[in-house]
Amino acid sequence: MSDDLVTTACPLCGGPDRTPVWQHPGGVINAVCDTCGHVFLARRASQAAIDAIYASYQQAYPRDFLIDPDNPVRRSARERWHQARPHLPDVPRRVLEIGCGYGFFLDALPCDTLRCGIEPSVTQSDFARQDLGLDGVRCQTLKAALAEGVWSKGFFDLIGSFHVIEHLPHPALLFEAAQDMLTQNGILFLACPELRSVGHNVIELEYLASSLHLQTFSAERIISLAATHGFRTLTHYEERNQTPFPGSSHAFLFQRKPTTLDTTPQAPLDPGVAAAIAGAWHAEMAARCDRLQKDVAALHTAGHRIAVFGAGVHTQGLFHAAGLDPALIEGIIDDSVDKQGQLLSGIPIRSLDATLAADACDVILVSTLASENRLLQNLPRRLPSHVRLIGLYRDIFGPPFATEPTVNAPQ
Ligand SMILES: [Zn+2]
Repeated sequence: MSDDLVTTACPLCGGPDRTPVWQHPGGVINAVCDTCGHVFLARRASQAAIDAIYASYQQAYPRDFLIDPDNPVRRSARERWHQARPHLPDVPRRVLEIGCGYGFFLDALPCDTLRCGIEPSVTQSDFARQDLGLDGVRCQTLKAALAEGVWSKGFFDLIGSFHVIEHLPHPALLFEAAQDMLTQNGILFLACPELRSVGHNVIELEYLASSLHLQTFSAERIISLAATHGFRTLTHYEERNQTPFPGSSHAFLFQRKPTTLDTTPQAPLDPGVAAAIAGAWHAEMAARCDRLQKDVAALHTAGHRIAVFGAGVHTQGLFHAAGLDPALIEGIIDDSVDKQGQLLSGIPIRSLDATLAADACDVILVSTLASENRLLQNLPRRLPSHVRLIGLYRDIFGPPFATEPTVNAPQ
């Protein structure tokens, strides 16, 4: 992959000078723009390589989690609709979600709403159409949809985009598209990780290491960008209970202003301040990854056979971003039949039953975030009592793992 890396200028101001704050062994560099203080990947995978990742992108969510109307991701989607609703006309409502994933936000809207979405992931857009019946979801990127001229100007009452802008090589494009496609007083609803509150999670590091998060915004920066593109801020709040990114997500409701600009953009962070915040985050992540490596190695040295549950991006992050040695892991378990039989970091993916039949583990590291609690509650029923469960996000940053096995009491 390192052959494929490209060096980029600041995606906001184009400034060529930057101060690195972190480098992944694979060559990706996170840096702060010396001109404007924006935090961005100054060296990253090429756009062609990134597009290929998105086309096959999928989380490790089991199907019963996805179809559960009360899963935490869907609860968050309903909370967002609750926030947006007071700012919208009664009917008819036309809504577009850019990067709609599995379609949970669109699904939370009243059925008499015209619900449109774009999503580059084949798996996720298929789920939105086939399982949620969202016929207005298209499998494509924002750039492709704009080039095709799919929707007319001034068409939508609300454009939502949640945890998407940090993925875009040209974030201004999102504001320009919204300015173009919203009605005169239309609402732009954004959410993204915020520089000061990004969670210390493996997944956040993996998003940087794999060039999926191309930048990290401060709240001031988002508000400033919106103002310079003709939007006034209605509300800005921290999504405390938002999953799968607890504590790290900020939401912004903007209104397209019908008159000429009269707002002075909020001053972005000073480059030195931004570098200190980003540098501290990376230092903390390095300490946590070091501890993960040592704790798992200690279990292995004590003779335990360790399997990882979940063959998705979290597990990819364990090996790729957090530096966990794949040689310490006996196997990867996933309930998805599609993934069974494949390899992840050279490790075979099998069903739980096949793993247990082979007596291939006595410790299972649960590697997912949004469905971790659910798995930690449900797995004991499917396991012999000597198999110990560790939650990557529940336990990883707690005390070092005890090397003695503990018994899981089925619940
Ligand atoms: Zn810049």
